[in-house]
Amino acid sequence: MRKKLVAGNWKMNTTADEAVKLAKEIKARLTGFNGAELLICPPYINLIPVHKVIEKSVIKLGSQDLYYEKSGAFTSGISGEMLKSAGCHYVIVGHSERRAIFGDTDELINKKLQAALGIGLIPILCIGEKLEDREAGLTEKVIESQLDGALMGFPTDWMSNMVIGYEPVWAIGTGKTATPEQAESSHKFIREKLTRDFGNQVADELTILYGGSVNSDNSDALIAENNIDGFLVGGASLKAESFEKIARSASK
Ligand code: PEP
Repeated sequence: MRKKLVAGNWKMNTTADEAVKLAKEIKARLTGFNGAELLICPPYINLIPVHKVIEKSVIKLGSQDLYYEKSGAFTSGISGEMLKSAGCHYVIVGHSERRAIFGDTDELINKKLQAALGIGLIPILCIGEKLEDREAGLTEKVIESQLDGALMGFPTDWMSNMVIGYEPVWAIGTGKTATPEQAESSHKFIREKLTRDFGNQVADELTILYGGSVNSDNSDALIAENNIDGFLVGGASLKAESFEKIARSASK
């Protein structure tokens, strides 16, 4: 069954103390919560202290990235096995900031997805068009090509352990959310493409998150759309109160 998920991407925010404090606040607000699955993704260095706070709670731990090699001379790299041993269930792959700032290509993202799946982490594959793509009418072309590149060679059974995050780049951190209609149109397009590529069952069951300036004022209208199964939240996940409101909204 398609599950609902609300994931907080803390990006490069929080010192160790701040991360523990925020995790404790989120945990206190959402103790016993049984709506959408909840996930927080702190920076690498804060994964272990945050895991200690949330390990017996309903909140799961995720990483913001990984490197695809298992071990060796890859200075600063973090492997999937390391993430698992730190308590992670999920890993974000292909976030637009990784693509734009750190140069992650579809080919690299494909390898990272394989590494994540191979070790039993659930990847959240992020895709989305830039403003100039949307203005040029290329939104669907961009989404299609990102999916083709990231999922190249993937057998159908791998797809049941994956989540997709549709995040229009122009909406990330800008306060400009996609309208529910714009988001739904892209989500529907993604699900139709997955149906063509992997069949009905995979497409029906796959969780597709929307990300891009989600907050507690716009989450109700977005989640009401048929093909929006939850959220990937950046800025609003850094405040326990707004993360809680979004989590409750996604669970209605
Ligand atoms: C994100 O980082 O994935 C994101 C959607 O950020 P924000 O919610 O701040 O736009």
